[in-house]
Amino acid sequence: MTELSTSEGNTSAQPLLGAGDIRRLAAELDIRPTKTLGQNFVIDGNTIRRIVSAAGLKGSETVLEVGPGLGSLTLGLLDAAARVVAVEIDPVLAERLPDTIARMRPGAADRLDVVLSDAMRVTELPHPPTALVANLPYNVAVPVVLNLLERFPSLDHGLVMVQDEVADRLAAPPGSKTYGVPSVKAAWYSQMQKAGVIGMNVFWPAPKIASGLVRFTRREPPKTTASREEVFAVIDAAFAQRRKTLRAALAGWAGSPAAAEEALRRAGVDPRARGEVLDVTAFARIAEGRRALLV
Ligand code: SAM
Repeated sequence: MTELSTSEGNTSAQPLLGAGDIRRLAAELDIRPTKTLGQNFVIDGNTIRRIVSAAGLKGSETVLEVGPGLGSLTLGLLDAAARVVAVEIDPVLAERLPDTIARMRPGAADRLDVVLSDAMRVTELPHPPTALVANLPYNVAVPVVLNLLERFPSLDHGLVMVQDEVADRLAAPPGSKTYGVPSVKAAWYSQMQKAGVIGMNVFWPAPKIASGLVRFTRREPPKTTASREEVFAVIDAAFAQRRKTLRAALAGWAGSPAAAEEALRRAGVDPRARGEVLDVTAFARIAEGRRALLV
């Protein structure tokens, strides 16, 4: 059985997992990290400390961690919060995690719940989480964040590590080049802010692209008579043809260019504008404008 010693690169009192530990654990479990599941494990204690510190956790919080993997971030989170609920899709990793925590943080083992599940589908957790802190699997990062914000209203804030380009998109303001569907939908739930860039060599295996940190704080969605689904449908339609004017881009969604123009006018939005300049409240007004036309 692997001897988990480590203090590689770690200057705090509490040991974290280093490169040697991660490789030993992976070898012992006979796992080959897969791209499909976005399995890039953090091997650097300083990066873990940076993530945990940027998350701004209070000691009383319950943290939802998606994809704990071999436990690198889980250890740091248990040091900063009251409880961690870790949702992992890979049964081998999920099964091993309690053992790793029991060995590295004997006093903290009963503050961890491991849920073997797909974070895209999870509907119930053993404790309502107040924060989401995760090194997310990159190919599903945006839908995971949006789904969790929708499903768990107790989530008040969080910090996620995603592909750097995706971090820019999530935090982009209207009018910027990277502003798009993820930016507007994320803004429905929360205020997102870029919180740093992380290099490739803190992971094993090292990804080919840089990662970015995004911090968010929940806010009330725009006040509107339209449903979230209706607002999201306008957003999808507007960005499906982002180079077109809204009158043209929303023609299919509204039924005709004239109907789109009427909904836009009711919303106080120039039909010649493009979706990339509108904030989430304007999209909500357009959905409302269309609704008013139908009743
Ligand atoms: N937190 C660990 C770390 O920082 O070293 C691992 C992060 S790794 C980027 C992503 C993790 O998410 C992997 O453990 C992977 O198995 C898990 N994962 C991938 N897809 C998932 C899903 N849909 N739901 C839950 N976990 C998932």
